[in-house]
Amino acid sequence: MQAEIIAVGTEILLGQIVDTNSAFIAQELAQAGIEVYYHSLVGDNADRLTAVVNQARSRSDLVIISGGLGPTKDDLTKQTVAHLLGVKLVENAPAMAKIRQHFSTAERPMTPNNRLQALYPEGSQPLKNRTGMAVGAFYQDPNAADIMLLPGPPSEAEPMFAEQGVPLLKATYHRSEFLESRVLRFFGIGEGKLVTELADLIDQQTNPTIAPYAKVNEVTLRLTAQAHERATAVKLLDKMTATIQDRVGDYLYGFGDDNTLAAVVVNELIDRHLTITGAESLTAGKFQSTLGDVPGVSAIFPGGFVTYANSAKHDLLGIPQAIIDRDGVVSAATAQQMAERSRAILDTDFSLSFTGVAGPDSLEGHPAGTVWLGLAQRGHEPRARLVHLTGTRAAIRERSVMTGLDWLRRVLNGSK
Ligand code: ATP
Ligand code: MG
Repeated sequence: MQAEIIAVGTEILLGQIVDTNSAFIAQELAQAGIEVYYHSLVGDNADRLTAVVNQARSRSDLVIISGGLGPTKDDLTKQTVAHLLGVKLVENAPAMAKIRQHFSTAERPMTPNNRLQALYPEGSQPLKNRTGMAVGAFYQDPNAADIMLLPGPPSEAEPMFAEQGVPLLKATYHRSEFLESRVLRFFGIGEGKLVTELADLIDQQTNPTIAPYAKVNEVTLRLTAQAHERATAVKLLDKMTATIQDRVGDYLYGFGDDNTLAAVVVNELIDRHLTITGAESLTAGKFQSTLGDVPGVSAIFPGGFVTYANSAKHDLLGIPQAIIDRDGVVSAATAQQMAERSRAILDTDFSLSFTGVAGPDSLEGHPAGTVWLGLAQRGHEPRARLVHLTGTRAAIRERSVMTGLDWLRRVLNGSK
């Protein structure tokens, strides 16, 4: 089973936008156990698109194309593919109803070209567009490669492919082996150290396979196991997970593709009915904004404080000027005061505070990257922790938030 991916769009060809669709599709295919041999990129031009699709069909079993399903003149993927397959474009009634509904809700007249978005090559299976208008399609050809058409905008292509495309491909190219994978997420350990700690496992890997992936501020490991029965594959994953946990479990904060550190912490707080606030100087609201990214956070987060200037630390949190004068703003005392005062004012179970030097200049004689975190917990003395971070201003602020979240995660686990 060999697949290839084609991105269509002159703006990608010119470098105005980056082709993220192909990367997303390739990752999903890898997870589904479908090999990808070629990626191509072609502009919005019928002749060149025809040539690229025909070449792909001559050497692969499956061709996945994104872009050019829209209503404008330069969108010609569907027309071109239907033409080279020798089929007509037909209307998909649910997609047409959605388009009509959209224009009537928006109280805007519908122009004829909008109908184009409801058309798909006859004989294919339509893929509905949950987040947009243009219908996708999966065309199975007994004599040549199958073709899947996806819209261009990643906000449409990604959910369409993940929710409908992948399950359809799995069902179509059914394999006797089950492929199960699991993502382990780590914070506070670099890729180099993680790979060293697990070197023997990675060297001997066959089933499950172990694929490390370093992202900004975190590392993930993807374990993939194969077996005739799903339960056996899951058992293989469980066993390898336990081995890895024994060695580096301290840094393992969660599982899953989209499970962020903030989501892990917020969901733990929600489960345990514990509330949180924050008082932020150098991060200026980034911590609270990160909490806000997690659905359901309102149950445990009433609000909080951004106290950038010393006057705001005094006026909003009531921190005595004498403490700031004595210890400085980048200090354990200020971090503890910020955390405890904010916690007391909003009567929450926890508060995290952030004060330090984001850079590039130094402050109070401390170099950029000097960060004090404060953690207040109801019924406990407030604590402070000093970390020295490196990188750009943006990286230091981001890393500060993650370090605070990880500290709280460990406190909730009872390990710190
Ligand atoms: P629309 O209905 O929005 O016109 P479409 O299916 O016709 O959608 P295109 O016109 O090809 O898609 O692309 C629309 C936009 O989607 C592009 O301007 C670009 O921002 C984004 N896009 C398209 N292809 C890709 C890609 N391969 N990777 C990332 N973004 C893409
Ligand atoms: Mg378009």
